[in-house]
Amino acid sequence: MRRERSPWPPTATVFHVSLVLLLYPAANQPGEACAAAADAEGTSPDTLILCRACGHELAVGTSIHFVPSRLALSSRNDTLLGGRRVTVQLFENPHGLQFEVVTFRKADVTPHWPASDHFSWFQGFSWTVATCPRCKAHLGWAFQPSDWPDTISQTKFEESDHTFLALITHRLLREDFASSLLVTPKSFMS
Ligand SMILES: [Zn+2]
Repeated sequence: MRRERSPWPPTATVFHVSLVLLLYPAANQPGEACAAAADAEGTSPDTLILCRACGHELAVGTSIHFVPSRLALSSRNDTLLGGRRVTVQLFENPHGLQFEVVTFRKADVTPHWPASDHFSWFQGFSWTVATCPRCKAHLGWAFQPSDWPDTISQTKFEESDHTFLALITHRLLREDFASSLLVTPKSFMS
């Protein structure tokens, strides 16, 4: 990865970040919901990541791949089902909007080329908007090396080890958490 000084240092102070927590600590999540499906395939339980708007399956937890950025305003750790550690980074765009993202090696999203290297959060990488292939919701951004052509094929993007995705946590949903929403705890009933 190329390391370059950015003309855009994120200097804004974070006063308040109101974000729906996607990645709850796993401590109080027994995870029966995923365990049954995972056991049927003989694999260890893992977390499915869904589009919050439509429920489309975007990725599995094992696709999460931390790509650190010095342009992140802050970062925090979370734990997925099965004890997988996940780093969530907070970024700000040139319009002052802030996004908490998790980076994935692979995910079923649609990049919209041509890519741009303006204000990229990951130095040496250009970005495109990435949307849900089913409902078209904006889920985050796809990153590819800046020295690549601005427009590439979906196949080249998907087959390369040099591409990744940064998806917005509050536009995603964990499958085990979604399952828990189907049951209303007695303590919440009046
Ligand atoms: Zn969707």
